[in-house]
Amino acid sequence: MKACVLSTYKKFEWKEVADPVIGENDVLIRSNYASICGSDQHIFSGDFHPRTKLPLIPGHEFMGTIEEIGSKVLDFNVGDRVAVDPIIWCGKCPACMRQHYPACTSLKLLGVDMDGGFGQYVIARPGMLYKLTPNISNIHGSLVEVLGIGFHSINRARVKQGDTIAIWGTGKVGHSILQAIKTRTEGQVFLIDLIENRLQLAKKAYPDVITINALKEDPIKVIAEYTHGDMVDIAFEAVGHDSSGGGTVNPVRGCINSIRGAGKVVVLGLGDEPSPVLFKELIWKEAKIIASRVSHGEFAEVIEHMDKGNLKPEVLITDIFQASDVQEAFQLLKQEPENHLKIILEM
Ligand SMILES: [Zn+2]
Ligand SMILES: [Zn+2]
Repeated sequence: MKACVLSTYKKFEWKEVADPVIGENDVLIRSNYASICGSDQHIFSGDFHPRTKLPLIPGHEFMGTIEEIGSKVLDFNVGDRVAVDPIIWCGKCPACMRQHYPACTSLKLLGVDMDGGFGQYVIARPGMLYKLTPNISNIHGSLVEVLGIGFHSINRARVKQGDTIAIWGTGKVGHSILQAIKTRTEGQVFLIDLIENRLQLAKKAYPDVITINALKEDPIKVIAEYTHGDMVDIAFEAVGHDSSGGGTVNPVRGCINSIRGAGKVVVLGLGDEPSPVLFKELIWKEAKIIASRVSHGEFAEVIEHMDKGNLKPEVLITDIFQASDVQEAFQLLKQEPENHLKIILEM
């Protein structure tokens, strides 16, 4: 098969590699479309070293068609179109013993810890597969994983009808949270970012959201004005780094300052720097901070909403590239983050 192989950091090669061989409990997937994630950009740059072992075929957001099934596999057939949940948990650690799989201490992902969907074929276990309905196109199927991140975060926060929301960061994750939120609450949503294009992209899809460019306005002030000082019920942090340089406030602290008394802050951004948080501000509100990592079976929820037309996956996609142009795709994401959100690779 051919695959996008990362042999040295910052350099992809589209080249011939050995076909994967399945065992009796495995399924062989023909990867059709794979979506490039922010984590892939970090893997590409070497930030995940030494967790990533090179050469690696990345890709943890993808869909494909079942090409071959192991002799012991039931429930699936050759030709089924599936979204692939890339998570592999150990089943034995304290978190897994409590069925809290996203917190597995030795959690592994296809495309991070082992070869993934940027190759034409990939091995998966049946428990990782979710059948796509006929209403869902192959391209949109490759976005089930990232939208699952959004749904997991709103499930962690127990978002309910009427809740008002602030989302800090409107990159791939922020947009996914927004889409999930819009299936659950008609409460006012505020979006905060430093990149105007991303805010406008969201505004075009959901005209009733209030966008705040933190380079131009103080988000806390704007939210206070709109809500007459009540602030929002839940704030999501999907920035992942301290962008207070340039912006008016650090995102995590901004989240704490955007919520009402007894509100909730959900953190998803995977930054490497500590966030300056004044805990007194959290304590005064007797607020909750909730962490959200990957997803926990929300693939089913995403597929159900996608099937009914409740989501707008097309909004996330700015480009579709041939897999052989993978190097160019990664360079564009780095050089022009304001012009590209999701780049999908056609495998
Ligand atoms: Zn991802
Ligand atoms: Zn575990």
